[in-house]
Amino acid sequence: MTEKSAIRIMALDDEPLMLKLLSRVLANLGFAPIKTCDNGRAALQWMDDESPDLILLDLNMPEMDGVEFVRHLVEHGYEGALILVSGEDERMQQAVEKLVRAHKITVLGHLHKPVAPEVLKAMIDKWSPPQRKPRVEQKIYGADELRAAIANGELVNYYQPKVAVASGRVVGVEALVRWQHPQDGMVLPGQFIGVAEAHGLIDELNRAVLIDALQQASAWQEAGMVLQMAINVSMDNLASLDFADFLTGQAAATGVPPQQVVLEVAEGRIMTNNMREQLETLARLRLKRFRLSIDDFGTGHSSLVQLRDVPFDELKIDRSFVHRAASDEAIRSKYDASLSIARRLNMENVAEGVEERDDWNLLRRTGCDLAQGYFIARPMPATSVPGWMQSWQARK
Ligand code: C2E
Ligand code: MG
Ligand code: MG
Repeated sequence: MTEKSAIRIMALDDEPLMLKLLSRVLANLGFAPIKTCDNGRAALQWMDDESPDLILLDLNMPEMDGVEFVRHLVEHGYEGALILVSGEDERMQQAVEKLVRAHKITVLGHLHKPVAPEVLKAMIDKWSPPQRKPRVEQKIYGADELRAAIANGELVNYYQPKVAVASGRVVGVEALVRWQHPQDGMVLPGQFIGVAEAHGLIDELNRAVLIDALQQASAWQEAGMVLQMAINVSMDNLASLDFADFLTGQAAATGVPPQQVVLEVAEGRIMTNNMREQLETLARLRLKRFRLSIDDFGTGHSSLVQLRDVPFDELKIDRSFVHRAASDEAIRSKYDASLSIARRLNMENVAEGVEERDDWNLLRRTGCDLAQGYFIARPMPATSVPGWMQSWQARK
């Protein structure tokens, strides 16, 4: 059985006192500190990064009620268990419990407020939590391991669609690397890109990604799907003097026109001083008609002058300035500012992190050019892209 301290529990209730009480009862039962949320929206956001094993869910909440929250859980493919908590009468609680079970979500039971700790304990005691492998998120990989993985072809590309906001047309995809680890399963780039950069492996890694991505673009092109292919490049790539020729060669060999290839450079990495080689490579790539994109815009500190020094075609507004911009004024002002900089510099603008319909509607209202994010599609294996495109045509 999984250690109690490794079990992830979340409590969702709009009453702060109730959250305190539940936290205390579960701590007394030997569980690790639980995650508490006072509204459904925040809970769902947290769940994007980490899915709990058990959720204690209040049914009566002012914004998103418990039943609506369950519907989102189903969309998220939630695999954990649920305990319903509410002041509603027994009949109502049973009705909701039945509804939840119909979605194939495990319900351990329902609790009446005020919650009796013994009842909660009895409910949890009967439950056998899922067997889980030790968490891999925190694992740090070594340079040797990563070097071997690159050589063994353990890196695979996922692709996330980019669509035109006004027409819904699928413009292209971004290649996002994943490590198919023989023991740990799918490892996300956040866990190994830093290691690659620190150990001089990033140039090699990105070239491997790039070769795969161009072959994929070429295969799609032959099947009649003309898609822009966006690839993340780092300063080390741009510093190596043969990079522009390497890329030109690969594009020619696969028959993908440079105009269809977008090179994304993170804003945080761009400094125009001391970057002679990188600027030279960027200029050469631009002359060969590759498209240059400035990624995660808003997280770095580039000035307008610095931006003007590099001939970028596209600006990607960082997701922290996009998601929830419609309802949060502070986020909104950064979104607006980024959009206006892109327009002033004549760059095509892309909003990242479009997670919900509200985000999408804001882009429509403000005339943003392109969108990328979970609302449209999550990154997916190449084989899933054609099917997704069909369903997107039907949805839009
Ligand atoms: P990025 O280039 O800004 O890529 C977008 C990241 O945001 C991806 O994370 C994507 O899965 C995630 N994302 C997309 N839509 C949403 C959304 O609606 N909500 C949220 N919360 N996230 C969303 P991923 O794949 O984990 O990649 C993280 C970063 O790792 C990338 O950020 C990029 O900087 C880097 N990376 C990925 N592949 C490569 C690569 O081949 N080479 C290099 N050098 N870096 C890479
Ligand atoms: Mg990117
Ligand atoms: Mg980005």
